[in-house]
Amino acid sequence: MNEQVKPDEIVELLRQAYAMEVEAADCYYDLSDQMFAGNNPDVANIFSHLADIEGRHADEIEGRLKALGHNAAGGSYSWDDPLGPESTASEDIHYLMTPYHALQLALHNEKRAAEFFRMLADKSSEAEARALALEYAGEEDEHVKLVEEWLTRVDEPAVDWHDDEDPAVGQ
Ligand code: ZN
Repeated sequence: MNEQVKPDEIVELLRQAYAMEVEAADCYYDLSDQMFAGNNPDVANIFSHLADIEGRHADEIEGRLKALGHNAAGGSYSWDDPLGPESTASEDIHYLMTPYHALQLALHNEKRAAEFFRMLADKSSEAEARALALEYAGEEDEHVKLVEEWLTRVDEPAVDWHDDEDPAVGQ
């Protein structure tokens, strides 16, 4: 190693990972609520399951940071939405979203999360940070598989799914 970067690198990685997991958990809880509201309990359950996984992961990462004498604040991460530029934040998830689109949104962001951790691994000069980032990437790969499997069980909606006949509520 050329310089002493070990503590900073691990802390930075963990904070980014924490922000990512919290964002994912929030988005999954929102998607779950939305699928329950839309009478899709099976899909709602898969999202609440994923929310629990990401939430537990966030807690575990926070625990690691505390053990290193740091708090979890300082990272930033937000989901992006391949369905439309207007809905990047979790609270803006389209209220007409079908299970198919909700799962596509999850798939997109799980792939992005896995890439994100691989990018962090590539940037790491320190072996421990690199190994941890690759471990997290592997977990996101598992989520990708889970979402892909669920996508095979839902129908692709009609092309006009987003045309609301009665767009009265909240614009
Ligand atoms: Zn994930």
